[in-house]
Amino acid sequence: MTTRTEDLAARLMRYCAVDTQSDADSPSQPSTAIQLTLARMLVQELETIGASDITLTDYGTVLATIPATAPGPTIGFLAHMDTAPQFNATGVKPRLIPGYNGGAITYPDNPALTLTPETSPNLLKKLGHDIVTASGTTLLGADDKAGIAIILHTAQTLLNDPSIPHGPIRLAFTPDEEIGRGVDRRLPKDLNVDWAYTFDGGEAGEIEYETFSADGAEIRIEGVSIHPGLAKGKMVNAIHLASKIIAALPQHTMLPELTDHRDGFIHATDMTGGSSAMTLRFILRDFEREGLEEKGKILRAVCDAVQATEPRATITCTITPQYRNMRYWLEKDMRPVELAQAACRDIGLAPVSVPIRGGTDGSRLTEMGVPCPNLFTGMQEIHGPLEWVSVQDMERASDLMLAILRRAVQ
Ligand SMILES: [Zn+2]
Repeated sequence: MTTRTEDLAARLMRYCAVDTQSDADSPSQPSTAIQLTLARMLVQELETIGASDITLTDYGTVLATIPATAPGPTIGFLAHMDTAPQFNATGVKPRLIPGYNGGAITYPDNPALTLTPETSPNLLKKLGHDIVTASGTTLLGADDKAGIAIILHTAQTLLNDPSIPHGPIRLAFTPDEEIGRGVDRRLPKDLNVDWAYTFDGGEAGEIEYETFSADGAEIRIEGVSIHPGLAKGKMVNAIHLASKIIAALPQHTMLPELTDHRDGFIHATDMTGGSSAMTLRFILRDFEREGLEEKGKILRAVCDAVQATEPRATITCTITPQYRNMRYWLEKDMRPVELAQAACRDIGLAPVSVPIRGGTDGSRLTEMGVPCPNLFTGMQEIHGPLEWVSVQDMERASDLMLAILRRAVQ
């Protein structure tokens, strides 16, 4: 390994070992206090490398400045500190597999688990690379600690060598991205940049400027409750109405497990309650406003149809906007995207721009007036025990950050 890849690997493994899982059910900000452990660690590391204006905001975001060495636009770089709530993230034991040989990777804490090029084809592109994985019982958290490591490693490179010309740089490490609460309304003003990038993408070369547009939906069903022994002609069971709604929704299309590429979906996320009342929750996703609206209409039409079969029940359907495809704003001024694509070519990689079937902190930031495309980190198989990342891909991402800064002052 080189001094660069050693530093990147050490940073990644240090950050991954800190449990920073977020929690959608928690009303606090950040959603879990453990995220502040990493936030404080990053504040210290920023102090050590000599960054300026280091702050941990009361909304749990770490901010810092790398002062300019040349006149140019102010560019922000962001990564998120939290890890996904979907899989165990406690007790992460990151380990480095030097010089990957193309074979199966096994896990010390879960002998049943193997990572192979058959299930993760990108592995074959990483022969000879140094790979970091977890130990088999947890996710790794390269999503998005690879992003944090790339940004801090590059910041250190710049601070160590003031002869590299670059404009003012702002850094931000956010909590709660995985639960859609990473961008506080105060962040755009506090960040104070001309535009920004998140390092929260996958395979080397990815420069993304399209995300889903997203709504949440809640259906509430009030039945009529009465002792079942006296129920004839009177009881209206909310559970039966809920199952009618689920059965009437598209079952062969528009499900996340049946769609890919540019197709959206209606996804039932949870269903709680009992015979007297039920609550059903959904997420609606589509790349286009019209497609998203159509999915909301389908949900409302199904509710109306089931309501018509039982006037004694009350069925309400509430749809709440979550985030919008960043393309709507970025396509008006593609310069931040084009600059990143050109910088990617500068480092010898062909840029790949595919729509992200999800959202990023950049979706909200872009909507709030800070254009913010997403850049690759190298992370793969995220949100599960097979998560892995190539340290050499992280090094390419650091090269990309340097190339973006170089182009921005030309
Ligand atoms: Zn992420």
